[in-house]
Amino acid sequence: MIVSSQTRSFGLFINNEWVESVGGESQEIINPANGKVIADIQRGTEEDTRAAVEAARRAFDKGEWPKLSPAARAEFIMKLARLLEERLRAFGEAELQNTGKPSKQVFDYDVAYTIDNLKFFAGASRVIEGVSAGEYVSEGTSILRREPVGVVGAITPWNYPLMMVGWRAIPAIAAGNTVVVKPASYTPVTTLMLAEAVKEIGLPKGVFNVVTGSGKIVGEELARNQDVDMIAFTGSNEVGRTISNISSGTVKRLSMELGGKAPFIVFDDADLDAATEGAVVGAFINNGQDCSAAARIYVHESIYDKFKKYYIEKVKKIKVGDPTVQTNDLGPLISEEQLGRVRKYVEIGRKEGNIVLDESEEMDSFEGFFIKPVVIETDNNKARIVQEEIFGPVPVIIKFKTYQEVIEKANDVSYGLGSSVWTKDVRKAMMASRDLRFGTVWINDHAPIPSEMPWSPMKRSGFGASTSKYSLEEFTTLKHVYVDLTGNVRKSWYYQIYGENR
Ligand code: NAD
Repeated sequence: MIVSSQTRSFGLFINNEWVESVGGESQEIINPANGKVIADIQRGTEEDTRAAVEAARRAFDKGEWPKLSPAARAEFIMKLARLLEERLRAFGEAELQNTGKPSKQVFDYDVAYTIDNLKFFAGASRVIEGVSAGEYVSEGTSILRREPVGVVGAITPWNYPLMMVGWRAIPAIAAGNTVVVKPASYTPVTTLMLAEAVKEIGLPKGVFNVVTGSGKIVGEELARNQDVDMIAFTGSNEVGRTISNISSGTVKRLSMELGGKAPFIVFDDADLDAATEGAVVGAFINNGQDCSAAARIYVHESIYDKFKKYYIEKVKKIKVGDPTVQTNDLGPLISEEQLGRVRKYVEIGRKEGNIVLDESEEMDSFEGFFIKPVVIETDNNKARIVQEEIFGPVPVIIKFKTYQEVIEKANDVSYGLGSSVWTKDVRKAMMASRDLRFGTVWINDHAPIPSEMPWSPMKRSGFGASTSKYSLEEFTTLKHVYVDLTGNVRKSWYYQIYGENR
């Protein structure tokens, strides 16, 4: 392993201090494009995690944060957004090195979008409101308060490291909670850089803590810890299930954003140019390592051959290579393990379908975990390549005849995250947006998630909402306050105990 001159060392971030793990172990973080070490981080232990939870607990129970005015909390989040804006280059470069995403994506999308998310949460947190509801019984007034849940464990994945902290930890603190963030083991760098920014803006101690290390140790401790009131998890279904099982005994709130296998439905009247273009971007953005990747492309039989021809022509133009080169479209996958997993699915696809494009071996001489797009066609909706999340640049195309058939096939997976429909017929688009059991339906596009709109899963893709005001609701709990209006010592219903004449 080559250690680059730019290697950075990070501690754990607990109570606004940088500390070493009590276990004394560290871990090297590598650039998946070239295998170079870019950072050295702490392997947090259960004890470290408990220390971070204690800090967050103290900050919530005894600190000023939950009681600050929404405006004051929003000002901190805005300061963080502004600092990110000033440091867009540094954050973008770190994300590029840590994930291998191409530079145009990290600068123009990942970091820029996270800044927008932060600004939105800062503003929206000022209008979190309860309802002054009125007199549901004639003798008293009811009021609803929305209050923070408490200590939140935010466990994030490697595919959008900074953005996912923006989705899982920032709305939590904006709503008055305190957090312990556990970033993915492969990609902790920008989360730790965000912790540096948190310290610089003077966020009160213990509000934002970061414990790096393995999911099994740090993540499971967060799930099992009685002092953690909520887990906001984004990641795989398998780990989501583990967290649900471990945390069930502690009765904590869960928000689960899990995997996806998005259908991309092209009806016979679709604009073919737009649909093929959309299917390229939808399937290959972030190298297919995206929970809403257009992984199942259903095309009407009358345009299938034409679509396939255009699509393959366009996919072939994608440039895979060094992500620091501005003209490259895709970098490597995140890890050797992920590359192995994607290759395994290509082999499964060879048996379950027909490989219509495979230049994957061209990248074998590269040092990083590169693979070129592979496109598979099949007519078997039950095939593993159709049902399971591959999480790589390997979309599947499938022919269909009727509206009913394609809706049934699209819904026939355990996931329910993103989906899209391509048609010029408004009626068909609206029917499909009703019939598809997915939390998001895009019409004639695939992927945009404005900060104002909820990213909200259905079925086994989880529950809860990232982004939008509904995400802020996730991180708050309802409190009913009842105010007596009579001023009477003995209210009208007290006879239940006292009897009428006593
Ligand atoms: P993962 O489930 O392997 O890991 C996610 C996080 O959980 C990491 O921080 C990991 O260290 C931690 N973890 C691992 N084992 C754990 C355990 N036993 N207990 C507690 N925590 C544990 O997921 P990943 O591979 O990092 O990310 C890819 C997955 O995330 C895909 O399935 C993708 O669809 C999903 N994802 C979903 C969304 C969404 O919004 N729904 C967004 C991004 C990614």
